[in-house]
Amino acid sequence: MNMIEPRHFSGLRGTLRYEASLAPHTTWRAGGPADVTYLPADRDDLAVFLRQLPIFEPVTVLGLGSNTLVRDGGVRGAVVLMHNPGGALAVADGLVYVDAGVACPKLARFAARHDCTGAEFLAGVPGTVGGALAMNAGCYGGETWPHVAKAEIVRRDGTFGIRTPSDYAIGYRSVKRADGREADGIFTAAWFRFPAGDGDAARARICELLARRIATQPLELPNAGSVFRNPPGDYAARLIESCGLKGFAIGGAKVSEKHANFVVNPGRRARAADIEELIEHVQRVVAQQTGVRLEREVRIIGERLG
Ligand SMILES: Cc1cc2nc3c(=O)[nH]c(=O)nc-3n(C[C@H](O)[C@H](O)[C@H](O)COP(=O)(O)OP(=O)(O)OC[C@H]3O[C@@H](n4cnc5c(N)ncnc54)[C@H](O)[C@@H]3O)c2cc1C
Repeated sequence: MNMIEPRHFSGLRGTLRYEASLAPHTTWRAGGPADVTYLPADRDDLAVFLRQLPIFEPVTVLGLGSNTLVRDGGVRGAVVLMHNPGGALAVADGLVYVDAGVACPKLARFAARHDCTGAEFLAGVPGTVGGALAMNAGCYGGETWPHVAKAEIVRRDGTFGIRTPSDYAIGYRSVKRADGREADGIFTAAWFRFPAGDGDAARARICELLARRIATQPLELPNAGSVFRNPPGDYAARLIESCGLKGFAIGGAKVSEKHANFVVNPGRRARAADIEELIEHVQRVVAQQTGVRLEREVRIIGERLG
């Protein structure tokens, strides 16, 4: 039974929904419903929601769902949807300010337009800035956190705080608290330090990086980017391909023929269970045939169907 009732809330300006499917909020386009989803109008509205949400209710955050598999049984508690296409961007005091719900490619283009360099790699990360902060997203030699001056979080009790890189232990696709605990709080904004430079060159690099992606990744099909982290000194895609798994399918989910570290959902027919089973199958076969245990990069949330 749903314990989060409309009577718990007043003064909300965002969109509150019950039992809405999360599939449209993930790039795999699969998965079940959340008890409650909340799309906040802005950071203050998110704080109002969190303060009124019964304290025992779990809160899960989704940005653009480009690194997340939601199981078919869905997510209990509240899911906060952070993607905000109208979020603010600004340049002030030598820093680029951005709301966490803004998509990374928009930040990359904004930085280039303002003659800042170093943000180009973000053009190829199809998630939100909040997701990039949570994942330390990166590619082509760039990573998110080396460019962060500070970030704002909102805590479960609706209070705000400022975090700096020294508050975190930051690694390859990993962001933990400095003491090793899981990171807490929802990122609501960040201030990036991107050095001044040649904006035209930055724009040209963005085009070049995107062309490279279009040539090598199955962007025309629902996917969630690289499923596995690259093991030290090797590539997950190379290992998966070497095991003959390109094109292998379970239900509606398939190992991409174009890039073996991508699982695609052609026709949007896959259940989340198909995708998860395929991920586990790939892990098992690669371990058996190569001795390498691939570690998942994508996050899996929610419950299996009974
Ligand atoms: C085609 C494709 C290419 C990709 N290429 C790359 C790549 O080159 N490099 C790379 O690093 N990744 C890549 N990814 C994966 C993905 O885009 C990144 O991990 C991205 O940072 C996820 O952002 P998101 O908003 O979609 O996060 P989600 O998938 O919505 O969430 C991911 C995690 O971040 C947390 N989170 C999201 N927003 C917040 C917030 N505001 N505050 C706190 N926690 C939050 C979620 O709870 C979850 O744990 C790719 C994905 C696709 C589909």
